[in-house]
Amino acid sequence: MALIRHYIDGQATGDPVRTGPVFNPATGERRHDVVLGSAADVEQAIAAARAALPGWRATSLTKRADVMFRLRHLLAERSGELAAIVTGEHGKVLSDAAGEIGRGLENVEFASGLINQLKGEYSQQVSSGVDVHSVKQPVGVVACITPFNFPVMVPLWMVASAIACGNTVVLKPSEKDPSASVYLAELFREAGLPAGVLNVVHGDKVAVDTLLDSPDVDAVSFVGSTPIARAIYQRASANGKRVQALGGAKNHMVVLEDADIEAAADAAVSAAYGSAGERCMAVSVLVAVGDVGDRLVPAIERRLDSLVIGDGTDAASEMGPLITREHRDKVASYVTGAGAEGATVVVDGTAKQFDSDGFFVGVSLIDDVTTGMKVYTDEIFGPVLSVVRVDTFEEAVALVNANQYGNGVALFTRDGGAARQFEFDIEVGMVGINVPIPVPIGAFSFGGWKNSLFGDAHIYGPESFHFYTRSKVVTSRWPDPLHSKIELAFPGNS
Ligand code: NAD
Repeated sequence: MALIRHYIDGQATGDPVRTGPVFNPATGERRHDVVLGSAADVEQAIAAARAALPGWRATSLTKRADVMFRLRHLLAERSGELAAIVTGEHGKVLSDAAGEIGRGLENVEFASGLINQLKGEYSQQVSSGVDVHSVKQPVGVVACITPFNFPVMVPLWMVASAIACGNTVVLKPSEKDPSASVYLAELFREAGLPAGVLNVVHGDKVAVDTLLDSPDVDAVSFVGSTPIARAIYQRASANGKRVQALGGAKNHMVVLEDADIEAAADAAVSAAYGSAGERCMAVSVLVAVGDVGDRLVPAIERRLDSLVIGDGTDAASEMGPLITREHRDKVASYVTGAGAEGATVVVDGTAKQFDSDGFFVGVSLIDDVTTGMKVYTDEIFGPVLSVVRVDTFEEAVALVNANQYGNGVALFTRDGGAARQFEFDIEVGMVGINVPIPVPIGAFSFGGWKNSLFGDAHIYGPESFHFYTRSKVVTSRWPDPLHSKIELAFPGNS
């Protein structure tokens, strides 16, 4: 059993004083142990990042861009190897792992355009002989804390832009699937990034709290569940840091009566059960308007029997296991509970038998769900699709807007006017019109509203270049000393 260690200042380091298990979720086998960082380990990583900062912030923009271009090439070349690491620890099927690497690559591509993104502004002759210009400078040392569900893409959402802006980074990945982050850090080194610019520390609350409390950490990017996101935002901002903390979700897919029902059924199945529902943009609630439920629920049910659930390394598998045994059991308890709360369990995934010790559960479809039921109020993060029936478009919009989360939402319709009104009224950060999982491409930024994001900056894309830089405005003049004089009044413009 291999030991997964920190990666600090370009070296594998960290003693196994405290460790956590890393499983292969498809077999249930404990494959590795990961070192859980002590405060001293984390302080060592912060010190390495701080020491690397003067050199990296002074590195020319062209050299930084070179690193990004080389990284893009290496990531594409090694995508198969990296996807195997993701599947081995997360469980998602290989094609899905390759998909997340592809989406992460978009962030590296965007960061490669750093010279354009970091351009300042210049105004000449704002007053006689006076010019003003602004520059964007790195914030300093950035802590990046990431969840288990996208072990490549979410770290790249953060570190690509943070590094492009001239910051140095301490990345604390999920302790459940930590290997991909170490692999990424090694790839950055191979692409020419100096040691100490990107450091990886593993761990739990001890490691995270050390990052949040350190006076040597200037900014924090977090992605994970809402209770932790809220706590991270409060603690880090109370410590004077710049923070963005993205939280959980409950994403609705609203289907209007004029929608193509077969296409909507395909989209709902893909978006609800892909990656076993462990996506922050997964569709977990279907809002069936008018008579849609009577047509759509049977269409979805017909598709579920043939879904292939199995080991993600098997090319035939369409859905893999859940991340841990405990999480699998918690997901199953929501399905059982929904029946007890009065919902109709159309397909009960907990009844499906698997010839494996892996953390598998079948897919579930639950109809007649109401907004007071736990299966509706909680983020389940598993392959469970709830159906809520409403009579009108207005009721559907009000239902989505009343939800505490506002990450993603989708509308399925052929009515352009309804789509436009939906886009205008809906209180959600990312909206899909006939697109079930509207994750913005790398040239836009990603972020939800309400309890899905704490802070004001969305992640990756243009907003990340704002978040990871501080602007400085310089007012200058080059006067002839012959005309110099004392003037105590506040200088006006002339
Ligand atoms: P999580 O909140 O349990 O963990 C996220 C990170 O926080 C991990 O690195 C973990 O080690 C750390 N952490 C956990 N408990 C902590 C504590 N008490 N104090 C300090 N740090 C702690 O989330 P997860 O289970 O790894 O990931 C799934 C969650 O992430 C879901 O809620 C999902 O919606 C959310 N998510 C959101 C987005 C988004 O963009 N909004 C994207 C991906 C995942």
